[in-house]
Amino acid sequence: MTLNASSDEFKELVRSRTDLVRLIGESVALHPKGRDFKGLCPFHDDRNPSFTVNPERQTYKCWSCGEGGDCFSFVMKQDSIGFRETLELLAKRASLELPATLRRGPTESKDKPHLYDVLEWAEQEFHHCLLSTAIAERARNYLQSRGFNHSSIAKFKLGFHPESWDWLLQRAKGRFDVELLVRASLAKEREGGNGYYDQFVDRVMFPIHDERGRTVAFGGRILPDSTCKPDAKYLNSSETPVFSKSRVCYALDVARDAIKKTGTALVMEGYADCVKAHQGGILNAVATLGTALTESHVTVLKRLAQKVVLVFDGDRAGMDAAEKAIPRFLAQDVDLRILTVPDGLDPDEYVDQRGGDALLELANEAPEAFEYQLRLLLTRYGKTTVDARQRVLDGMLNLLTLSPGIVDTIKEDLLVGRLPQRLGLPETDVRRRLKQLRAERTAPPARPSERKVSAGNPGDEPQQRVSKQTVDSLQRYANNTEKLECELLQLLFTHPDMIYAVRREIGADDFGHEALREILSLCFDMQDEGIEPTFERLLSRIECPQQKRLVVWVDEHSPHRSIKKTSSESQSAGMESAEEGLRRVIERIKWRRSCQANQASKSLLIERPSETAKLTAETREVLEQAARFHRERTAK
Ligand SMILES: [Zn+2]
Repeated sequence: MTLNASSDEFKELVRSRTDLVRLIGESVALHPKGRDFKGLCPFHDDRNPSFTVNPERQTYKCWSCGEGGDCFSFVMKQDSIGFRETLELLAKRASLELPATLRRGPTESKDKPHLYDVLEWAEQEFHHCLLSTAIAERARNYLQSRGFNHSSIAKFKLGFHPESWDWLLQRAKGRFDVELLVRASLAKEREGGNGYYDQFVDRVMFPIHDERGRTVAFGGRILPDSTCKPDAKYLNSSETPVFSKSRVCYALDVARDAIKKTGTALVMEGYADCVKAHQGGILNAVATLGTALTESHVTVLKRLAQKVVLVFDGDRAGMDAAEKAIPRFLAQDVDLRILTVPDGLDPDEYVDQRGGDALLELANEAPEAFEYQLRLLLTRYGKTTVDARQRVLDGMLNLLTLSPGIVDTIKEDLLVGRLPQRLGLPETDVRRRLKQLRAERTAPPARPSERKVSAGNPGDEPQQRVSKQTVDSLQRYANNTEKLECELLQLLFTHPDMIYAVRREIGADDFGHEALREILSLCFDMQDEGIEPTFERLLSRIECPQQKRLVVWVDEHSPHRSIKKTSSESQSAGMESAEEGLRRVIERIKWRRSCQANQASKSLLIERPSETAKLTAETREVLEQAARFHRERTAK
């Protein structure tokens, strides 16, 4: 893909208007550390914060998995989207209009941006209908009877789809294709291919947003007096390219700040409970969407909060759901609490009757998952007889065997250590029983930390110039030559004006490592265009995420960041100046070049031994070259 200066400028503009700390802070809780910010890496199962954001450079870097880059590569990687889409997204975020040359042509059109468009449009249609049409009177009455107030309706953009099977289809005419509505899960094709109908009918609409606040799906609650004979009270959009219900947390976009501030996330079972919780002042509430909490949800939440409280209905079904959730998260590195709302109430009713503060208080006191289960089993079996205690013990230990990720961890040790005293059993018996139960299970599956994090390869647009393997292996096994090449790039990143000095002495071909060579020639290209290749401009120019990652890695490992340019400036520190460093590196690279040339001429002579008597002009030249090389070597 050829890039003109104007597209580079625009990328640079978007980059400069994007505060990386803020952007990443939307999905990762970042804490200042020296000049940098630190947090849990969103790209691997991180337990100790190893993810660093450098506000000065506007780059990020994970010291554990090696991911790194700038705002573009972060969004590409996190959202698994291509460069164009990322540029659009970040430009929109920065309130910049995309230049005509960078807009997608009709042939380039991708599905996702259109899906976002049609979903956002539908949200506005539903919301407007609820607020200001006569046809929505029943819906407004229903919401009022359920206790939803105006500010909740506005905050969560609640809406209404009236009792008509083509209300939305009619309104979409001339704006969006029917097929797009179907792909967005807003309409369905009739059986037999005989036309289409709206997916949601006579329902109060709850728009579902992703972490970035984009509308990705809807949940619809049928009106109680509806004549539509629905299959289900609540209906969610089907999965689409922009919506996966096992990943999206309802209301995370509005709850994020409160979650970060309190360090706690409350997870409700449905969006109605969640909206009610916010209305009651519980601003750190989110909800799952008709599924149990998944590992993806926990992964998203634990980057923002240390504590996750699962809030369940106080009825039998709620308690069963709570019990099922525990083993899946025991090994997760998060303080997981279980709250079943007392007196058989659901959270919505509880907030209505006693207020949000009362529910928050319960959440603060909610027992952690293991303790919750222990109390539950003790209530179920009691502990008066040996048999009862044995059953409680087995129940608790089985929980641990269901959670292979916890084997031999400190957490396991602490949890097991609690049981002897609580059950009045000798510790050795407890530990022996755990071993026994574990042996009874077959070999445990891989620990969560060993599972591959999905690569999220944005396979479209910018051609992958550099593979992940190339960067990984360079990071791990760089040889001396490659280190030298990295060092030269580091010096250039710090003092881009030294490019003239570099170019006088060496060419890109002097670099042995292909990916590093590409970066150097990119710097040269920029210089040819009259652009000084600063680190920032270089990052803007590069589209391939792996190449970006490489550039950031090279820069991050630079010992030269604070280096002074000339020796007079660096004299006081008694350190090598950048100019001296550059001279040293260039000399060594040139030395390597002559070594290689000598090697080549030697093999040239070996290839034709019979002709050595008859010295051709060519061979003489080779021999002279070799002699020169040996003189230089002894002089060194
Ligand atoms: Zn990482």
